[in-house]
Amino acid sequence: MTSPIWHPFTQHGLAEPIPLIARAEGAALYTREGVRIIDAISSWWVTTHGHAHPKIVAAIAEQAGRLDQIIFAGYTHEPAETLARALIAMMPDPLAHIFFSDSGSTSVEVALKMSLGFWANRGAPRHRIVVMEHSYHGDTIGAMSVGARGVFNQPYAPLLFDVATIPFPEAGAEQATLDALEANCRDAPAALIVEPLILGAGGMKIYAPAMLAEMRAICARHGVLFIADEVMTGWGRTGTLLACTQAGIVPDILCLSKGLTGGAVPLAVTLATPEIFDAHLSSDRARMFFHSSSYTANPIACAAANANLAIWRDEPVLDRVAEVERSQRALLAAIADHSKVVNARQLGTITAFEVDERSGNYLSPIAPRLAAFCRDRGVLLRPLGNTIYVMPPYCIGDDLDTVYAVIEAYLSAD
Ligand code: PMP
Repeated sequence: MTSPIWHPFTQHGLAEPIPLIARAEGAALYTREGVRIIDAISSWWVTTHGHAHPKIVAAIAEQAGRLDQIIFAGYTHEPAETLARALIAMMPDPLAHIFFSDSGSTSVEVALKMSLGFWANRGAPRHRIVVMEHSYHGDTIGAMSVGARGVFNQPYAPLLFDVATIPFPEAGAEQATLDALEANCRDAPAALIVEPLILGAGGMKIYAPAMLAEMRAICARHGVLFIADEVMTGWGRTGTLLACTQAGIVPDILCLSKGLTGGAVPLAVTLATPEIFDAHLSSDRARMFFHSSSYTANPIACAAANANLAIWRDEPVLDRVAEVERSQRALLAAIADHSKVVNARQLGTITAFEVDERSGNYLSPIAPRLAAFCRDRGVLLRPLGNTIYVMPPYCIGDDLDTVYAVIEAYLSAD
C-alpha cells in the first residue's frame, strides 16, 4: 500500500520505495528491519552532535513534563529567558536582541521583515534586497525570492519579489562581485543577504573570508544592512562557531537554526543590533514588529537549545570539528584525482565535488542514482544535482571511512 504522505523531493504516487527509519543514535540510523545506515549529511545538516545526544534527550524529556507550550506574546518562560541570555553572550557584539521562530526559512523571513521595518519605521522606506547568485535561503515565498531561481521555484516565479543579484565571487573574478555590490548600494537597498563563506543548497560553493569582509565593509560604508544567513554554517560547520568569525565581521542581522538544538527539535533565531531593535519601538505601538507563530520559542525546543549550549560549554566540540575536518581532508585527497571527480573542495567539516559537469541541475539523474547506490550500501548521502557532498555529525569517527569507500565504489562502478 502506498503512503498518503506527500514527501518532499520524491516522485510521490509512483510508489518509490524509501527506507522507514525507526531509531537513530550518534551517526547511525536504523531501519524498522534493523539495517544500519550512516548519516553522512547529519539528517539535512542539523544533527551536529549526532542523534540522541543524552544531554539533549534528557533536557527534552524533563521540559516536556514541566511546561510543553505557552503563548509567547505577553508571557515568557525560563528556558527562553535562559537561552536568550546565554546565546547573546556567545554571539559577537552588538547582536544583543533575539527573535524566536521555528525554521531556517522563517528566520530569514523575519530578517527580511526586520530590515524593511527598520527603514519604514525611520520614515525612509526601502524595499530592495541585494542577494548573491546561487544562494539558497529557504522555501517560503520571501526566502525563495532572495534565493536563486531554478526548476524548484519556477512555478511560483511570478509571485517572487524582485531583488538585485550580485555575481558569486568566483576565484579570480572577485572584483566583479564587489563592483556589482558597490553599484547596487548606490541605489539605497534595504539590505544584503548572504550565506557566509559557503553557498549550501546552491552547490556547496566556497568563497574567501576576505570577500565576506569586503562585502561587509561596502554595506557599512553605504549604510546598507548586512544579513548573514548562518542557518547551515552556524554551530561549527565551517570550523568556527560562526562562519562570519573567520572574516572578522559582525552582521547587523544573523539567522541561526539547524544545529541550534543540536538537531533534535525545530527552533530558529534571528539576532539583531540595538539599532534595529529600537527602530521597532514607539510609545503608540505603531512600530511594533508584527510577526508571530504558534510555536514561537516553544519551551521544549528552547530546553533542547539550552542543552546544546551546555554541550558547547562543557565538551570539546571544536576539537571534534577539527578532527572531522582532518579526516575529511585525507579522505577527500584520496579520491580527488579520480577521473570523474571535478573541483574537490572543503570548508571545515564540509567536503564537496562534482561528478559530471554536464548535468549540474536539480533534475540531474546522478542525484537519485547515487543516493540509491549509497542507501543500498548503508550510507545516507543526498547529492545536490551532480554535486556530491559530505557533511557528517561531529561524532562520526571511523564511519567516515565507510562513507568514502562507498563513494569510491560509486565512482569506480561502470
Ligand atoms: N538558509 C540556509 C542557508 C539553509 O541552508 C537552509 C536549509 N537548507 C535554510 C535557510 C532554510 O532552513 P529550513 O529548511 O529549516 O527552513
